[in-house]
Amino acid sequence: MSDSSPPDIEAFRQSARVWLEANAEPLIDTISAEDTAAEHGAPTWGQGSDSVAVFHNLSEEQEAQRLSSTRAWQQKKFDAGYAMLNWPVDLGGRGLPNSFLRAYNGEEARFHVPSAGELPPTSMGLIAPTIAAYGTEQQQADFIRPLMRMDILGCQLFSEPSAGSDLASVTTRATRDGDEWILDGQKVWTSGARFAQWGLAIARHDVDLPKHKGLTAFLVPFDVAGVEVRPIKQMSGGANFNEVFLTQARLPDALRLGPVGEGWRVALTCLGFERDHSGGGGGGHAGGGYRQVHALAEHLGVTGDLVVRQMLAQLYTDHKVAQYTNRRAAARLKAGQTPGPEGSLGKLMWTANMSSVSDAVSTLLGPRLTADTGEWGTYAWGEHVLGAPGYRIAGGSDEIQRNIVGERVLGLPAEPRVDKDVSFAEAQRLARR
Ligand SMILES: Cc1cc2nc3c(=O)[nH]c(=O)nc-3n(C[C@H](O)[C@H](O)[C@H](O)COP(=O)(O)OP(=O)(O)OC[C@H]3O[C@@H](n4cnc5c(N)ncnc54)[C@H](O)[C@@H]3O)c2cc1C
Repeated sequence: MSDSSPPDIEAFRQSARVWLEANAEPLIDTISAEDTAAEHGAPTWGQGSDSVAVFHNLSEEQEAQRLSSTRAWQQKKFDAGYAMLNWPVDLGGRGLPNSFLRAYNGEEARFHVPSAGELPPTSMGLIAPTIAAYGTEQQQADFIRPLMRMDILGCQLFSEPSAGSDLASVTTRATRDGDEWILDGQKVWTSGARFAQWGLAIARHDVDLPKHKGLTAFLVPFDVAGVEVRPIKQMSGGANFNEVFLTQARLPDALRLGPVGEGWRVALTCLGFERDHSGGGGGGHAGGGYRQVHALAEHLGVTGDLVVRQMLAQLYTDHKVAQYTNRRAAARLKAGQTPGPEGSLGKLMWTANMSSVSDAVSTLLGPRLTADTGEWGTYAWGEHVLGAPGYRIAGGSDEIQRNIVGERVLGLPAEPRVDKDVSFAEAQRLARR
């Protein structure tokens, strides 16, 4: 499907709806396009799945199965022309305004479509646009379409055991050898690496430059010698994260993403897409929301209890405030303005609300949260409670988000950065003293 001028948005919405009706199962007729997590998934007690998992406790086979149905859906969507609506035409997109993407997403939200954890959004929402921003023509041709069609999957090889919040401290080395690079080091917390074929890594090519300047980005194929992926078992079950060991892994220079020494800018670009994803969208519907907590309170017969009523009112208010804040941010973008404080606060509100949901269900369920009696909609909350803290860390921890709000929104003095202008090797030496 291709268009030279934007179609009428209502006609577009209508044709998307017709296509979705023909290709996907409707969810709930009454959900409006603008509803968010606060309204989604209001259960009919005892019916259907009671999962409110933030990270799913699945075996490798189940995880592979989930990815394969998500891939089948994405390929169908791609082939029908709905997967790259707002992407430039020369990169394979339809070049439509963001309003068309919002219109499509609003329609799709009324249908049940497969989704599979963090890897597909990372691959399509973070890695593909970063390649669009920094890739050579060849890299764009080789990666963007396959990533957006989920023919291949890419993950984010940024964090290391001693570089998370302070990401610019990565120590994975990239050593030039003729037309090749040799990568050595360890990455950690890599979401979805077990099922990815590629990783976007930042590595240090020069320890004598200041830490932000000695970094270069690479597209790492997981099938080369010297790349080893080891899953990490989570407290909520499952193994969404991995360690990735790079041992003398050789890559051609053609897989360098962006110029030598521009790795930090590549990383910041990718992290910018990650923040956009996690504020109100991305993983924004993970876990349980207000409606499910309310349904639980009703089932337990405690909605008349004053303390419970107060708790539910607070939860509802907080979800609404987050929802309106996200809408304000979306309205600013729609009006062509740059993201304001609402964008910076989005992630904080989202993770705070996930924590409030955990507190509320812990109060309501007490020991039933920890003992699996088989009762629908009770023990299942354990997977929300154990998973929610992860998102307070992922994509920039709460504290780092507060630093950003303090410095960039409130204009408070920046944190002292003593290692900014010394070589990385010297900064490391000073830190060890
Ligand atoms: C669910 C999840 C998915 C993830 N997926 C990926 C992935 O796919 N790829 C990837 O590369 N990484 C991934 N990560 C790693 C993630 O980016 C890091 O965990 C995160 O950046 C924090 O780094 P750290 O774990 O090293 O903690 P640290 O940076 O060591 O922080 C420890 C504590 O100190 C606090 N702290 C640190 N610096 C400051 C400061 N300057 N001011 C105030 N407080 C501070 C932090 O808030 C935190 O509470 C994922 C993490 C999670 C939880």
